[in-house]
Amino acid sequence: MAMVSCRECGRSVSDGAPSCPNCGVTSPAGQSQLEIRRVSRLTGALIPLAVWVDSNHVGNLGPGKSLTLTVTPGIHRIECQLQQAHNKEGAQEVTVPAGKHLVVTVATSRLNGKPSFTPELA
Ligand SMILES: [Zn+2]
Repeated sequence: MAMVSCRECGRSVSDGAPSCPNCGVTSPAGQSQLEIRRVSRLTGALIPLAVWVDSNHVGNLGPGKSLTLTVTPGIHRIECQLQQAHNKEGAQEVTVPAGKHLVVTVATSRLNGKPSFTPELA
């Protein structure tokens, strides 16, 4: 965790703080975005990929589709599972920096449908 200036009061706060201890504003380091993209590929294309972030189901992705969420800066856990393939899930923890947009590309294995994750800053 790094220390940054609160976007409201300017005091020093942790970039992962959910609220400012001084003025109480939420996401004092600035809002971050987490985008989850599924690569376009024919294998398994008809099966939706279910996506969870921090154990909350946030949607299902078809090939070539993406979801963008506004999140607090810090560590978030992404889990993906091809529906109707309950043993094919994968999970990845990613760190979303304050005020940044992190894109996580999800590819499902041609062999067994197991998801793999590639995070990069947009
Ligand atoms: Zn503040």
